[in-house]
Amino acid sequence: MSLIANIIRPEVLDLAAYHVPDSVGFVKLDAMENPYTLSADLQQALATRLAKVALNRYPVPSYSGLKTAIKQQLGVPQDYDLVLGNGSDELISMVSMACAKAGAKVLAPLPGFVMYAMSARLAGMQFVGVPLNADLTLDLAAMLAAIAEHRPAITYLAYPNNPTGTLYEVADIEAILRAVGDTGVVILDEAYQPFSPVSFMSRLGEFDNLLVMRTVSKLGLAGIRLGYMTGSQALLEQFEKVRPPYNINVLTEAAAEFMLEQVAVLDAQAAQLCAQRGVLTEALARLPGVTVFPSAANFLLIRVPQAEQVFAKLVKQKILVKNVGKMHVLLENCLRITVSTPEENSLFLDAFSASL
Ligand SMILES: *Cc1c(COP(=O)(O)O)cnc(C)c1O
Repeated sequence: MSLIANIIRPEVLDLAAYHVPDSVGFVKLDAMENPYTLSADLQQALATRLAKVALNRYPVPSYSGLKTAIKQQLGVPQDYDLVLGNGSDELISMVSMACAKAGAKVLAPLPGFVMYAMSARLAGMQFVGVPLNADLTLDLAAMLAAIAEHRPAITYLAYPNNPTGTLYEVADIEAILRAVGDTGVVILDEAYQPFSPVSFMSRLGEFDNLLVMRTVSKLGLAGIRLGYMTGSQALLEQFEKVRPPYNINVLTEAAAEFMLEQVAVLDAQAAQLCAQRGVLTEALARLPGVTVFPSAANFLLIRVPQAEQVFAKLVKQKILVKNVGKMHVLLENCLRITVSTPEENSLFLDAFSASL
């Protein structure tokens, strides 16, 4: 159809739409969601709070109440400001939009989070992927060589990484921050921070080019869509210019403020999921032929012979995990499993053992 060809950019024509499989009736272990729902008491209190929200008004553009709550409850240093996004996916788009000078490049290790490459291409930037080592650790030499060759405007490091769960070495991240210097920003994407023992949040003052990006999605609030990013004021001011003014809606704002008052509930759930990650790791590692990669996130990456068939057999048993085998050569025969409740983890383990 010539209308489409006439108006749509070639980068968009080339894209495949982000595919989300239908999961009704499945044990859903494919998207790193927190499996716990709110208690009846909290549901009631949240409903009361949301009922009072003025839906006829635009959000107050400063979002100062929400920002204060995030800073206090989620460990952002007091002297740092935040940029908020409709999910961290929107923050990634905003940074791309702000940095997309002619010829500007984006760099990240691969396999990694797909939105880095997608957002770069949509903004008209070249994406440079640097393969991880075979054991899915960071290939620092390759990263430094690629940084020297391409001088990326944006370097993404998911810490820990999705879909591998890997926690890169602190010294390697420091080396990358120094190598990039003042020719680019390094975004540490701490989406899985609730499940990780480490963070770069406390080190913002040491690196002018460091941005720390997080989301409340994996903590248990994926449905409200809220991400936040911090770093030097000079950088945040520029990103604020490309942020759509009312990008966080009043219901998200009110729900987030409410849940941050209850953050101990979410923290306790994260602690349970971390404990379950240990239980599941041990159980999987005991099965013949299964390799479990170390994970600091709320999911496990495993390698199993004939992963395609195992995946299909799991689907037949109404268990949905993520088949990542085709994402990258390093992930051949790999499946990614979200850690869930003890009950769902057992259902998965039984079905999985029966599928081997
Ligand atoms: C899930 C995820 C995100 C996206 O989070 P949203 O806030 O839900 O958009 C960002 N980065 C990584 C590495 C993720 O795995």
